[in-house]
Amino acid sequence: MARLLITGGAGFIGSHTCVVLLEAGHDLVVLDDFSNSSPVALERVQELAGRSLELVRGDLRDPVLLEQVFASADAAGAPIEAVIHFAGLKAVGESVAQPLRYWDVNVAGSRALLSTMDAHGCRTLVFSSSATLYGYPETVPIPETAPVQPINPYGHTKASVERMLADLAASAPDAWRIACLRYFNPVGAHPSGRIGEDPNGIPNNLFPFVSQVAIGRRQRLSVFGGDWPTPDGSGVRDYIHVMDLAEGHRAALDALLGDRPQLLTLNLGSGVGASVLEVVRAFEAASGRAVPYEVVDRRPGDAAITVADPSLAAERLGWRTQRSLADMCRDGWAWQSANPQGYQGAS
Ligand code: NAD
Ligand code: UDP
Repeated sequence: MARLLITGGAGFIGSHTCVVLLEAGHDLVVLDDFSNSSPVALERVQELAGRSLELVRGDLRDPVLLEQVFASADAAGAPIEAVIHFAGLKAVGESVAQPLRYWDVNVAGSRALLSTMDAHGCRTLVFSSSATLYGYPETVPIPETAPVQPINPYGHTKASVERMLADLAASAPDAWRIACLRYFNPVGAHPSGRIGEDPNGIPNNLFPFVSQVAIGRRQRLSVFGGDWPTPDGSGVRDYIHVMDLAEGHRAALDALLGDRPQLLTLNLGSGVGASVLEVVRAFEAASGRAVPYEVVDRRPGDAAITVADPSLAAERLGWRTQRSLADMCRDGWAWQSANPQGYQGAS
């Protein structure tokens, strides 16, 4: 079992991954500034896993803090062996309005982390990349060999970190073990309903919006476009249960630690597409609540269909998704119905 640094471990994907890693017996140090998450998430992670983790509250871009984290682990005789790097900003629209903030947190933050890792001889990293870097995909399902052609600043920052990681891996191919995991659309929650996705303000993404309509926090869903070249005219995406995604991180870590140094770039998706209207119907069935909607204009920047070819991850990690859209809706509803206001006001 390894001692791991988890940046952004209090966030949506990080918190679920922390449960899986704690249950697998790893020791965790979580670095998070709670700019988009709540400390309550980490309390519940520990309660679910029945084990504790170490929390460092602070900013990824702070080199003094990073140095302290690695140096104190070294001094304690329990050095950080690998990093899972979730911390970052992820809202496409915000990235268009505030590009420098995105380049700073996502790219400069990653660079600061890598420098400190290198200085301490920690050269194993799992990085949260995104299918957004495929832009408007030319082939669906999308293989990892598809061109990287992001269409917004958020996507550019993810593509740039992947480039930086490729350059770093090439500079010392016998040293670095790196996995860039390109997530498709992570949704759902831990089946206990104790942790889940808790966006600030009006959700940008479909799934949290639908679940907030079902619980009565929002009146109706706007379906962005009914005239896409898809079977029912609404957009198609590859939704992946966040617990499947969390297990994908454990598998990637095991593969890196158990093999020669290498750079892995893998899609994490189910390979199955679901339309917006299919998600609405599945959520209605899981929750027993109506999800009123109206079809409105397309959202600028959207692609019609984005679905992963997940075969390389299956081959390299022995990992594939296990959970269905119905499972995603059931567990997402368990979280939403038990925590109508998210972590706000929770103890
Ligand atoms: P999230 O916002 O819930 O989690 C990110 C965490 O990082 C939060 O806890 C936040 O407080 C923390 N953080 C942000 N800036 C920080 C900083 N400067 N220093 C320390 N901590 C900081 O997001 P998520 O959905 O869990 O996503 C995790 C990662 O996965 C992100 O890098 C995101 O870009 C990537 N990703 C997410 C999705 C998605 O749909 N959720 C899809 C593809 C890729
Ligand atoms: N979508 C929608 N209404 C919303 C949010 C999203 O119809 O309020 C659609 C969107 O056009 C896309 C799908 O739902 O077809 C998934 O969008 P999301 O923002 O969740 O993910 P991404 O665009 O990153 O794939």
